[in-house]
Amino acid sequence: MAFTRTAGRLGLLSCHLCNSLTKSAPGAHEGRCSRCGSHLRFRKPDSITRTWALLIASYILFIPANLLPIMHTNSLFGAQSDTILSGVVYLWASGSWHLAVIVFIASILVPSAKLVTLTFLVVSVQRRSTWDPLQRMNMYRILESVGRWSMLDIFVVAMLVALVHLQTLATIRAGAGAVAFGALVVVTMLAAMAFDPRLIWDPQWTRHE
Ligand SMILES: [Zn+2]
Repeated sequence: MAFTRTAGRLGLLSCHLCNSLTKSAPGAHEGRCSRCGSHLRFRKPDSITRTWALLIASYILFIPANLLPIMHTNSLFGAQSDTILSGVVYLWASGSWHLAVIVFIASILVPSAKLVTLTFLVVSVQRRSTWDPLQRMNMYRILESVGRWSMLDIFVVAMLVALVHLQTLATIRAGAGAVAFGALVVVTMLAAMAFDPRLIWDPQWTRHE
């Protein structure tokens, strides 16, 4: 690969909102969109540090989200506290295996896969890896689009609450695990947003200079 022209090298900033290209002032690291006036940057500032900080917070939240009870049920048959995993086991044992699978995928599999993928992307960027940037870009795209499915879990809990209310005189309270899980989903989403996918491509261009 010979000389490659990149927008960054030509001092051009593209706008995330209106896609317009703006020429930056010489030597500047940021600018303002000439069309819609939004704030533009060549790279997100301190992307790697911020992503790491949020990632570590996510790993810490992952523990209470899975170990603390996600809901407390009070019914005629007694009080019961359930973690995500015991909820999955309960659903499976009571014959709602499709619900068990949905809850397992949405609240255990997807959040862990997101954390592992984002960690891999940050480490690869930090080590200036040149491994298949297109593949890594696709991983980032999936990571971003999958975020909303993590909230599926909340719908399942809402549905369970409705079901239990219909069947018996029971009360359900959200446990500390639900708070930790909500925080986990939000913090992981922020971590993915703090990551600048343009960093994936940087080593490709500098290597050929
Ligand atoms: Zn714009």
